[in-house]
Amino acid sequence: MKNKKIYISITFIIIFCVFSIGIIQTKNKTVELIQLAQIESRQSMGYLIKTKNNKLIAIDGGLKENTQNLIENINENGGKVDYWFLTHVHDDHLGAFVEIVKNTDIQIDNIFVSLNDLSWYEQYESSRIDFTKEFFQTLENEKIRDKIHNPQLNEIINIDGIKAEILGIRNPEFTENAGNEQSMVIKFDTGKTTILILGDTGVQSSEKLIETQKDKLKSDIVQVAHHGQAGATEELYKLINPKICLWPTPTWLWNNDAGSGENTGNWKTFETRQWLENLNVQQNYIGKDGNVTIEIK
Ligand SMILES: [Zn+2]
Repeated sequence: MKNKKIYISITFIIIFCVFSIGIIQTKNKTVELIQLAQIESRQSMGYLIKTKNNKLIAIDGGLKENTQNLIENINENGGKVDYWFLTHVHDDHLGAFVEIVKNTDIQIDNIFVSLNDLSWYEQYESSRIDFTKEFFQTLENEKIRDKIHNPQLNEIINIDGIKAEILGIRNPEFTENAGNEQSMVIKFDTGKTTILILGDTGVQSSEKLIETQKDKLKSDIVQVAHHGQAGATEELYKLINPKICLWPTPTWLWNNDAGSGENTGNWKTFETRQWLENLNVQQNYIGKDGNVTIEIK
């Protein structure tokens, strides 16, 4: 009888401990947002988001020259990509993606990309057509050709407690700054924190976003468009009103340095920096400072 009581007590203690550890682990689980480092020869853009239960979301990835760093970061976070969002067909965003599909065994389960026909790019993006053709060929690769989704405007994709809402897709009517103006715009919402990815959104698509998505733009974190210069409008940033800015920006571009020191270039980085300073942004994460992991709620 005494033994039975002891057994019951021990059983209860064990159940209590397992349960408590479970609660503590759930409490400690956070979403991680990784901004990938810049190489300094050119600008690029790549992000990873690791969900609470270790699903991996990739956004763009960077240049071909960023591939090794991207692979290392994917491998440190489970080794496969569950969802890959591709903002627009420029090699400073999708060069590394092409390399990974062609030359590695990294598994990719879902790819979201919003594209015009190749003939559109031939007409309006002829200077970049070689990479565009390579990218279109890559989408035919048997490893990924069944994994490609063409998202609709305002579509919501639920990923392990994170809501990814598509606020912008291709804009074929914009034929000036044509490639950048096709940028897919995605708002990630963890339930506590919102992150807005703008890609290389330009002036015309900024105005379209203000017209069509005004109430959804406010976000805690924003990826500053077009590497921090000559991208989205001040009006758009005012509506986003972020607390944290992600800058996919190398040192020379951050400093507007054409080679003779600070502010000797013609880039508009200082203008964009001033706009965001005026909004009392609390923290800037800048790609020039290397890979950075931001823990978010
Ligand atoms: Zn770019």
